[in-house]
Amino acid sequence: MHFDLPDDAQALRRMVREFAEAEIAPVAERYDREKRFPYEIVKRLGELDLMGIPFPQALGGAGGTTLQYALAVEELTRVDSSVAITLCAHTSLGTQPIYLFGSPEQQASYMPDLCAGRKLGAFGLTEPEAGSDAGNVHTRAILDDGEWVIDGAKQFITNAGTEISGHVAITARTGEHEISNLIVETGTPGYDIGQPYRKMGWNASDTRPLSFQGCRVPERNLLGPRGGGLKQFLQVLDIGRIGVAAMGVGLAQGALDQALSYAKERRAFGQPISRFQTIQTKLADLATELEAARLLTYKSAWLKDEGRNFSLTAAQAKLKTGRLAVRATEEAVQVHGGYGYIEEYPVCRFYRDAKVLTIGEGTDEVQQLVIARALGA
Ligand SMILES: Cc1cc2nc3c(=O)[nH]c(=O)nc-3n(C[C@H](O)[C@H](O)[C@H](O)COP(=O)(O)OP(=O)(O)OC[C@H]3O[C@@H](n4cnc5c(N)ncnc54)[C@H](O)[C@@H]3O)c2cc1C
Repeated sequence: MHFDLPDDAQALRRMVREFAEAEIAPVAERYDREKRFPYEIVKRLGELDLMGIPFPQALGGAGGTTLQYALAVEELTRVDSSVAITLCAHTSLGTQPIYLFGSPEQQASYMPDLCAGRKLGAFGLTEPEAGSDAGNVHTRAILDDGEWVIDGAKQFITNAGTEISGHVAITARTGEHEISNLIVETGTPGYDIGQPYRKMGWNASDTRPLSFQGCRVPERNLLGPRGGGLKQFLQVLDIGRIGVAAMGVGLAQGALDQALSYAKERRAFGQPISRFQTIQTKLADLATELEAARLLTYKSAWLKDEGRNFSLTAAQAKLKTGRLAVRATEEAVQVHGGYGYIEEYPVCRFYRDAKVLTIGEGTDEVQQLVIARALGA
């Protein structure tokens, strides 16, 4: 057993860190303030081969590992969560279902543009009346004359409403006791993309309600077997949790880095505040919790890469890192004093960005249910 990251993973981490610090950090506050989707940055992510890290090269991906993907997400979140969630939702939720369940024709048709970042993928599971209880799907799809006719609504969907959004993969009830996944392309008549939400954080990412009214898509847009939707989305969410856990690690690391560097600069009572024991214990506790959360996250990615069962570890990583990110960003604001409450300091944005990590992709309570079930409770 050893804990060194493979050379290729270390190289990717270095590359993403340099890119994030050079090209995202200087503009993150502005995008957040203007609530503007970062098209220019997403284009660069595509050029750097980061928009399809874990997918095979034959389909346009980078042929990388889940661990590499987690490291890239971590490094992006260390600097900016909006960019990170855009890549994360695109990869884990938008592209993954097409890779896992798509026919060779569907893969050939969608994957190259998605992996290059020319198009963004979205995943529409949550509904106004079905969030944690995601199997309680109300959206319906009826087969009529070789087409699915879709009626219903989706809530809080990431990446569906940008100028480069290509499709959303949705769950729909295709029979009384049957849920299936369907691909709906942007621009399909009857598919309406609502106005972006005004959010607490992730301000530069795209989140919208979607509605479907007599929306017709070809029968071939069924993703995987008819009736396989429930099993499929649970599988997608399991993988998604590794990405969101990596976001928690990155955000906590970013908060710790900012807090440490500020504490060494800021002086009070004639000395840097980093000399005060109460500040030191905050930093020491965060660094320790962070190491534990990081190991759990890397282990979940490693288990997946080894082809082993990773559901329990991914849920544990998601639960641990989301809570840590909330705490770490709060402590980082505290270390900054009044300046932490001012938007030009990154910790202010980090604090607003953290909370959703205990909600999206399964709330903390849902992770606890998954973990308790795995324990046999
Ligand atoms: C910014 C953002 C982006 C998102 N992006 C996407 C996306 O791209 N695609 C997508 O499909 N969804 C997306 N979501 C939706 C997200 O996954 C849901 O908000 C989340 O799963 C919770 O569902 P809900 O909001 O309906 O809350 P509810 O399910 O109504 O939960 C409310 C509260 O009840 C608790 N609760 C519910 N059931 C139980 C239970 N059995 N035991 C104990 N407690 C319980 C919850 O933990 C929570 O505290 C996004 C959400 C946000 C905020």
